[in-house]
Amino acid sequence: ARTYTVDLIAGDGIGQEVVPAATRVVDALADRHGFRVAWRERQWGSAYFFEHGRMMPVDGIEILSDGDAILLGAVGHPELPDHETLWGLLIPIRREFLQYINLRPVRVLPGVVSPLRGVDDLDIVVVRENVEGEYSAVGGRVYRGAAEEFALQEAVFTRTGVTRVARYAAELAASRSGSLTSATKSNGIIHSMPFWDEVVSSVVEDYDGVELKSVLVDALAAALVLRPHDFDVIVASNLFGDILSDLIAALAGSIGIAPSANINPPRDHPSMFEPIHGSAPDIAGKGIANPTGQLWSASLMLDHLGEPAAAAGLMSAIDEVMAAGIRTADLGGSAGTEDFTAAVLRAVASS
Ligand code: NAD
Ligand code: MN
Repeated sequence: ARTYTVDLIAGDGIGQEVVPAATRVVDALADRHGFRVAWRERQWGSAYFFEHGRMMPVDGIEILSDGDAILLGAVGHPELPDHETLWGLLIPIRREFLQYINLRPVRVLPGVVSPLRGVDDLDIVVVRENVEGEYSAVGGRVYRGAAEEFALQEAVFTRTGVTRVARYAAELAASRSGSLTSATKSNGIIHSMPFWDEVVSSVVEDYDGVELKSVLVDALAAALVLRPHDFDVIVASNLFGDILSDLIAALAGSIGIAPSANINPPRDHPSMFEPIHGSAPDIAGKGIANPTGQLWSASLMLDHLGEPAAAAGLMSAIDEVMAAGIRTADLGGSAGTEDFTAAVLRAVASS
C-alpha cells in the first residue's frame, strides 16, 4: 500500500489528548482508502525540556527532514516562558523547512452557532506569512541597565518573502471568489507596512480576476465582526495573520475547531499541520478538549499528501457528527474528547 511517513509531535497540554484522536481517525481512513501512515512519535516539548534543557534534540530538524509531513499538537507550559517553548520547537521547524505559508481556513460547521447573529455560512481563509515579519530574533534585544531601559524588536520583510505569500494568496483567491484582502497598518508602521502594501499590490496586479483591497488591520478586525461575509481570502503578515485567524475562528464558534497548515509550497521539505489553538493548560488532562482543530489539520495533511478522498471523508465525518449535535464543552455541548472521537470513527466506518 502507499505509505506516508509522518512525524508526530503531540507536545504539551491538550496536544497529548487531541493528537491521539487524530491518529486513530487517520488510521481508520487509511484502511478504507488503501494507504498506510507510518507514525514516528517524537516525545518532544516541555517534558523533554525539563529533562534535557531543550524542546527537541539538537538534531531535531535533521531527524524530521526525511519525513513526508509533521502532525503537531501544541507547545506551551505554564512554568516555561512562551518564547522558550515556541522558539525552541515550533518556529525553528517553520523556518528551517521554509514553511512560508500558514494556511488557516475557517468555516461554520453544521449545527454550530456563531457568537454573532446571522453568521452560519462563514467561509474565510487566512494566508499568514509564516517565516519572517514581526516574529524576528535579529537586531532586537532588551537594553538592560540603560539609563532608560528599553526593548528593541525588529521586523523583517523581504521582497522575496512578501512576494511569495502574496502570490500564493492571489492564486488561492483566483480559485475562489476573486476577492483578496490584505491586512496592513501603513498609517502607523511606516517602513515595513508601506513596503508590504507596495509588494502585495504589484504581485496582485498580474492576476486579472483578483480584486485586492488593502485594509488597516484595526479597521479589518472591526469589519470582520460587523460584516464577516464581505471577506473571502485574507493575506496578512506573521503577527497580523495570527491575531486575525483567532478572531475569525472565534466567529465560527470556538478556536478549538480551527486548523492550520504550515506549507513549504516547493515541497523541498516536509510541511507541518497543527490546530491554531495552544496547549490550553486550563482544561488539559480533563478529557474535554475539542479535537476538531486537530482532526481538520489532519485532513489538510491528507490532502497535502495526495489523499484528497480520505481528506474529504474526514471532513464529512466531522460535519456529520456536528450536525448530529455531538459537541464538546467549548461549543456548548457535553461530549468529551473521547465521545466526539468515537462518533467521528463511527461516521468514518459507516461512510
Ligand atoms: P490556548 O489556545 O491554549 O487556549 C485559549 C482558550 O481556548 C483556553 O480557555 C482554552 O481552554 C480554550 N481552548 C483552546 N483549544 C481548545 C480546544 N481544542 N477545545 C476546547 N477549548 C480550547 O491559548 P493560550 O491559553 O493563550 O495559550 C496556552 C499556551 O499555549 C501558551 O503557553 C501559549 O504560548 C501556547 N500556544 C501554543 C501554540 C502552538 O503550539 N502553536 C499556539 C497558541 C498558544
Ligand atoms: Mn496563535
